Order: sequence, then structure tokens, then C-alpha cells
Amino acid sequence: MQCKKRLEKGQQILNNPFEFILDCIVRAIAYLFIPFPLAAEVLVRFRGMVLAILLNAVLLIVVLFITLFSIFTNPSVIGNANANTNIPIDGSFIATDIPLQNPLGGQGLSLVKITAGFMDPNYSFFGSVHTGVDFVPNEEYYLSNKIYKETGVVVYATMNGTVNYFTDKYGSHTVEVTNSDNSIKVIVMHLNSVFVATGEILTAGKPVGTMGNTGFSTGEHLHYEIRVKNGDGWIPVNPLGYIQ
Ligand SMILES: [Zn+2]
Repeated sequence: MQCKKRLEKGQQILNNPFEFILDCIVRAIAYLFIPFPLAAEVLVRFRGMVLAILLNAVLLIVVLFITLFSIFTNPSVIGNANANTNIPIDGSFIATDIPLQNPLGGQGLSLVKITAGFMDPNYSFFGSVHTGVDFVPNEEYYLSNKIYKETGVVVYATMNGTVNYFTDKYGSHTVEVTNSDNSIKVIVMHLNSVFVATGEILTAGKPVGTMGNTGFSTGEHLHYEIRVKNGDGWIPVNPLGYIQ
């Protein structure tokens, strides 16, 4: 009996080496999940079905990944670029060439919650690093500032400078303000409405837009970035080191 089985096996290798290798692969996979020889034999019998299930599982994972990736990289909100606004300048901002305040207003970080830090490893995707800080308003903000219900959460310029407004490749409404001696740049991203235009010169406290969810973003928040001039380029620095 044993001998006959071996003979059959030998025959199989000779007749159809591809099938034999396939059997070995299925057996190896089966042993990994169900460590009983009999179960492996059953799986080998239904080899076609097992391979089909495995292939389908792989395909499903690929499709799922592509879907998730396209959701995260497509603009989720179109936003309202170049909107007009009656929102007044926030007089509590100091007119300065250094960004000393929080773009959502208030003393220090009193009105915000940080949802992702500078260079936060949890927010590094596909080799890119998180070069800014993510803010959302905290409870105190919503209690003390009723106007947001009509206007949305207003994002203010944190220093005096010249505006560069653009939409990045993911659809994020992005406003950059560069100070007069070209040494510091502040960047706000994912805006919904934008109240400023490229070339505009503004002072700190001027509303530049409203917090939104445009571009590579999974929820409404403000991405705030500070870059300092370094030779020919700009390097991102931790904005929390500036906010007083
Ligand atoms: Zn961010």
C-alpha cells in the first residue's frame, strides 16, 4: 500500500511536475494554518478551490487598498476659493514679521487641541514626513467664539507678509505668507474658504480663510507650518517653538 502510494507520487512528479509543485505549495500553506496532515490532504484534494479563495483574498486586499488610497488622496471638499468676507481683522494679533501666535487666535494654545505634532511618526505616509502641526479648535474655542457657526472656523495670518495662494496636487487650498525680509514662511493647508489672493500684502490678524478638509486630509483640521530660509531652500521648523 505504502509502496503503491510512493509509486503514484513518483509517477505524478514525472507526468506533471507543475501539478506536483502546486500540491506542495498548497500543502505547505495548509500546514501553516491547520497543523494536521489529514486537513492538508483534504485541502490538496480541493486545491483549485483553495487557490481560488487565496487569489480572491489577495485581489480583494489590492482593491481595498486602491479604494482607500483614492479616498485619502482625492479632494473631499472643493471649497470656496477667493471668497469675499466681512470677518474683521482680529486686533489681538501683534503686527509682527515673526509668527508668534496661533492661527486660530487666542492666547498661546488656549483655544486649540493638537491632533498631530511636528514630525509625528503616526502621520508619515508613503515616505513623506509631517512637516507641520495639526490643530482643531477645543471646547473653549466653541464656548467663547459663537461667530464660527456663521463663518466657519476662521484662520488668521500669524505674521505680516505677502500671500501666495495655490491648490496643491491633492486639492488642498493652501495659503503661504512670506515675511518682508524673505526669512520666514507660514503655511496653512486644507482650507475650505480662502479670503486672500496671491500678491496681497497683509498684517497679522487678517482672516485668510476657514478651516476645512480639502486635499490629503481625513477630517476637518488646520495644518500649520513654519519654514525658515536656509541657503537657497526652506526648512520646516516646529511651529510650537514660536507660539507664545
Ligand atoms: Zn498636518
